[in-house]
Amino acid sequence: MYCLACHYDLGGSVEAGRCPECGREFDGGEPSSYARGDEQRLLRIGFWFLGASALVPGVMYLLVHLVWVVGFIFLGYGPRAGLDDPSEISVLFSLLYYPTVFLMALMLPLSAGVLLLMVVAILTIRDREFHSTFGRRVFWVVSGLAGWSLGLVILRTDVTGVLNWLMD
Ligand SMILES: [Zn+2]
Repeated sequence: MYCLACHYDLGGSVEAGRCPECGREFDGGEPSSYARGDEQRLLRIGFWFLGASALVPGVMYLLVHLVWVVGFIFLGYGPRAGLDDPSEISVLFSLLYYPTVFLMALMLPLSAGVLLLMVVAILTIRDREFHSTFGRRVFWVVSGLAGWSLGLVILRTDVTGVLNWLMD
């Protein structure tokens, strides 16, 4: 339950009392005297998803290497960019290759969408109504931004050259 005036987190207290933050009275037995905090929960889940989405580029990086390893198994040697066309290795390999290429193509619109959500999140982060979860929201936004930028740089630089082979 949350204070109606300042949205301070009052915990699960069933007793009547005063908000430690602003002094407004509340009564645990009287639902109209406090806020239930559904919005808070929804917002918290939204921020959590934003932070967790930062794992997407990293998972993508692992996936393209998995495809390379499977290609290695089919060919008997490491696939070479420009020489071993991924679409002609085998039908079975294509079942892994095409979905991966499709997911890679989604990375750009997906990262643009996440960036847009990040901007919205940063704009709401200082909203006084939700100040009791401020620290956690900052944490998820910072984690999200860090994970996405790091992940996209790793994908972009393609140190192992696997993306060069897969996407050419
Ligand atoms: Zn209060």
